[in-house]
Amino acid sequence: MQKKRVVIIGAGPAGLTAAIYTARAQFTPMVITGNLLGGQVSQTYEMENYPGFPEPLTGAELVDRFRAQAERFGAEIAYDSVAEVDFRNGSPFLVKTTNETYSADTVIVAVGASPRKLNVPGEAEYTGRGVSYCATCDGAFFRGKEVLVVGGGDSALEEALFLTRFVKSLNIVHRRDQLRAGMALQARAEKNAQIGYIWDTVVDEIRGGENDIVKVALLRNVKTGAVTERPTEGVFIFIGHVPNSELFRGQLTTNEKGYLITDVRYQTNVAGVFAAGEIQDEIWRQVATSVGQGAAAGISAIHWLEEHGDTLRKLD
Ligand code: NAP
Repeated sequence: MQKKRVVIIGAGPAGLTAAIYTARAQFTPMVITGNLLGGQVSQTYEMENYPGFPEPLTGAELVDRFRAQAERFGAEIAYDSVAEVDFRNGSPFLVKTTNETYSADTVIVAVGASPRKLNVPGEAEYTGRGVSYCATCDGAFFRGKEVLVVGGGDSALEEALFLTRFVKSLNIVHRRDQLRAGMALQARAEKNAQIGYIWDTVVDEIRGGENDIVKVALLRNVKTGAVTERPTEGVFIFIGHVPNSELFRGQLTTNEKGYLITDVRYQTNVAGVFAAGEIQDEIWRQVATSVGQGAAAGISAIHWLEEHGDTLRKLD
């Protein structure tokens, strides 16, 4: 068992910023990355709205800078996944990963959110075989092809616009006849002749052909009930996100959608356990806001350790 002053679960913008702050305060945080260093932003092709970078950079480049800055101050990074936590007896908390068990005086939870699934037949089966949740990752495999993009929010339009670099054409399948996306993105999409729309429609099923790759989507018009078989070579799904709070079920309080509830200091219902980024933020969901929340949670953890440090050391 390794003893740590700060364990940070998650290495996206919030987790790595909390690492920069707590490392700089000399608490040598241990950051447990989970599956993907950088989280969702590491899959973003171009970051145009992160302050300080007038020339766009990729999400992966930005994340690498966060990581290097945290390591420069002494943060440790474990490329490992958390299997279990025990916050029930208060600090020190137990954090078990695949390879190690940590005893942590404080924990900062920054595990983010994952793409929401359609939960229709064929979706799981054809993920990676024509079904995708990431245009940046998979777009190049669809060069010259015709695909569907599901969703009507900013993500769907932004990813659709990115996909037009590769695909011959695409249709946005949206369950209503009005987009949720902001006007700027809508205007850009409207100007793009490669983008069409299928309104008032949901995907009921995804089917493959020979080679076991996507060939057809069954589309249902929600107004008329008419079901059509739409030939397609890819289905890109961008219908929002769900918070990755399963690991903390029964220990940390969530709202009805599963987002962790934090106070103004980013503290959860457990004293000494803080949370930042999209695991507790269903509104702002920007790299810039996650970074701010990570900084605040980091500072709160520092204050908490300063207030409780002597008591904790006596327990050692
Ligand atoms: P979102 O705004 O929640 O939009 C989700 C879209 O998927 C909506 O159009 C929704 O339809 C649709 N949808 C949800 N569940 C569905 C289902 N089961 N079947 C079919 N359609 C479904 O999610 P998002 O686009 O990922 O954006 C999330 C947040 O990040 C937003 O605050 C957004 O502004 C922000 N964001 C910003 C940028 C940017 O600033 N450039 C880029 C990406 C994301 P309805 O419209 O009918 O509800």
